[in-house]
Amino acid sequence: MTRIAELARKIPDIAINTAEKAVRTKSRDYFFWSPILKAQLDHVMADAVVSPKNESEVMRTLAACWELDIPVTPRGGGTGNYGQAMPLAGGGVLDMMSLDHVRSIDAGTVVVEPGARLSAIEDLTRPSQGLELRMYPSTVETASVGGFIAGGSGGVGSIRWGMLREPGNILNLRVVTMEETPRCVDLTGDAIDAAAHAFGANGVITEVTLPLAPSYDWVEMLVSYPTWSQALEAGWTVTHHEGLWLKELAAVEAPAPYQYFARYRKFLESGDNVLCILAAPNAVAPLSDKLKRQGGRIAYQSDQLSDTDRKGLTRLHHLTWNHTTLQARRVDPEITYLQVGIPVDRPLETLDAISRQFPGELIGHVEFVRASGRVYASSLPLLHYQNAERLLEISLWLEAAGCTCYNPHSYRLEEGMHSDVDPVQLQMKKDHDPKGLLNPGKMIAWENAEYRFDPAVHRPFPGLQKAKS
Ligand SMILES: Cc1cc2nc3c(=O)[nH]c(=O)nc-3n(C[C@H](O)[C@H](O)[C@H](O)COP(=O)(O)OP(=O)(O)OC[C@H]3O[C@@H](n4cnc5c(N)ncnc54)[C@H](O)[C@@H]3O)c2cc1C
Repeated sequence: MTRIAELARKIPDIAINTAEKAVRTKSRDYFFWSPILKAQLDHVMADAVVSPKNESEVMRTLAACWELDIPVTPRGGGTGNYGQAMPLAGGGVLDMMSLDHVRSIDAGTVVVEPGARLSAIEDLTRPSQGLELRMYPSTVETASVGGFIAGGSGGVGSIRWGMLREPGNILNLRVVTMEETPRCVDLTGDAIDAAAHAFGANGVITEVTLPLAPSYDWVEMLVSYPTWSQALEAGWTVTHHEGLWLKELAAVEAPAPYQYFARYRKFLESGDNVLCILAAPNAVAPLSDKLKRQGGRIAYQSDQLSDTDRKGLTRLHHLTWNHTTLQARRVDPEITYLQVGIPVDRPLETLDAISRQFPGELIGHVEFVRASGRVYASSLPLLHYQNAERLLEISLWLEAAGCTCYNPHSYRLEEGMHSDVDPVQLQMKKDHDPKGLLNPGKMIAWENAEYRFDPAVHRPFPGLQKAKS
């Protein structure tokens, strides 16, 4: 009897799917955006998809998998774009999307199960309380809240509230451990850090408590500038004005907006460098004044549109964060991207230098965010990919220029986070997953507790499922 058949015998009332097509689909995320990950992970496939309906079924599934030594990779909406949700060692994909209840909305917080889609949460909090999520990834309609916390980092709203792991942005996480007798552990305060952005490798999230923010009918704007440095300067300046309530401000370098934002092309010209903005209605007038004074042209403003012009438009957040990459790939599927932290003491000079160093190869895309009281330029430049050697050369140039390359072409936590071993995250894995069965292969520290990050060296997971010849 196979291990999966044995599993089905142990948990007969919990849905297990072994149909090849379904399992293949749920074994993949957006890893293929990276040509490097595409080559490394294309063959990866689980043996089964297990779909618990509630926390108690999650616990019973984990207990059975523990007994049978079956690896378990949790999965939400499957929109992670560096293989976070891919079952590198096979085993079971734990599909969390049926745990999707919003348990309570009260006193400015929401308590929710992990499989709830982020937009579905806002569909409830907005009308009932006039509140919304502080931030969401640009995949808000498809991503789950558990997947965002375990696999994401920030997004639309981070310009005001900081990144997801900023203290106070997650109030409580309940995780289930992978042990003989799984436990529910409630994490609050600093303890949350160990499980947020840990790819589910040290606990399966079964409940999330998030703080909410006042909701607005955000006005969408595209503001164009003749030069990249003007666009950056304007974006950087207005982000500092805390009285202007912004939900989002991204800068995208020419020629990307005109070439790739197909639905918005009618508002743009080919040389436009563009700021993509979501602003509170009460911020629009003072914001427009400032942006125009810095040479900007308001190319598009959602509250000024005729019905004819509105036809065919998406929501503006679909031009920002990793949706910028998505729009570019729709036109040119060879395009990929980088994630680059820009030095806080000389952001505009550095961004300008990058643009001059890699003309036509890197196209600027910057998200302005706040963290710990400061404004940061977080860069997600589009990359016309040549080969792995060239990618490394570019990354090392950026590092030498004082940037931090958070590698989206690696499925390893530390390589993506540009970090050595995270001792707290590792300790939680030891405590919660002593056999190392949760999302194997993602945490280098589990294999090597002395690991030191080196941007030039990739440490592949030794247990990576072999490709079938
Ligand atoms: C077009 C596009 C735009 C994007 N924009 C953004 C963005 O703006 N900001 C951002 O941060 N990311 C962004 N991403 C990445 C991704 O969408 C987000 O990280 C997203 O929130 C992941 O949610 P998901 O439900 O799809 O998670 P999945 O991809 O299913 O999973 C992500 C990780 O979380 C783990 N996981 C899932 N559920 C659980 C659970 N219940 N318990 C424990 N672990 C769990 C998985 O094992 C995996 O490691 C983008 C990706 C794409 C393709």
